[in-house]
Amino acid sequence: MNAHFRPGRGELAHLERVSVDRSFHEILRSLEAIGAAGAALAVIRERVPDHEPEPAVFDAAVRFLTALNEGVPAEEALLSLHIRVLAILGFAPTLDRCVHCGKMPAPGRSASFDAARGGIVCRACGGGRLVLSGGALRRWVALQATSELPEQPWPDSERQEIHDALAQLDAHHATVSVRESTAVRMFMLRRG
Ligand SMILES: [Zn+2]
Repeated sequence: MNAHFRPGRGELAHLERVSVDRSFHEILRSLEAIGAAGAALAVIRERVPDHEPEPAVFDAAVRFLTALNEGVPAEEALLSLHIRVLAILGFAPTLDRCVHCGKMPAPGRSASFDAARGGIVCRACGGGRLVLSGGALRRWVALQATSELPEQPWPDSERQEIHDALAQLDAHHATVSVRESTAVRMFMLRRG
């Protein structure tokens, strides 16, 4: 869909014309796909600042809707899009070494994850609250580098681990955002 806007006053814009050049109507046949599409838009809305074009995110979103429309597994596609959006916007967690001391986990081994510290944390540095298996780590790292979406379902345990780690990252991001906006408000008050 192409939408043409003319800036208006404040947050409002004038919609000038809309044309549909691609439709994703197959998504409407599956409640799971509809849910995944809505959740994906929420991820993007949460992470992309208003009025800032992010062509790579837009491209990833179109690929995601196209894949959902073609019937890829919805939850895997949503998690993949989430990982990709974080990577594009520079929020990718560190997964190849301990964020604190730089120690690399042995290939294929699991590692513990701490969203507040931005990635995996080795045991000597205190570990994290979640564990990512070797399979989940490999999958996550690969997904950061591509907008391709999985055509096959993942093992349940890997899907759950990745889901939980993303949820922890989002929760942490939310608290950071609140802190940042409070800091900005305090700054404005002091200046005013
Ligand atoms: Zn460490």
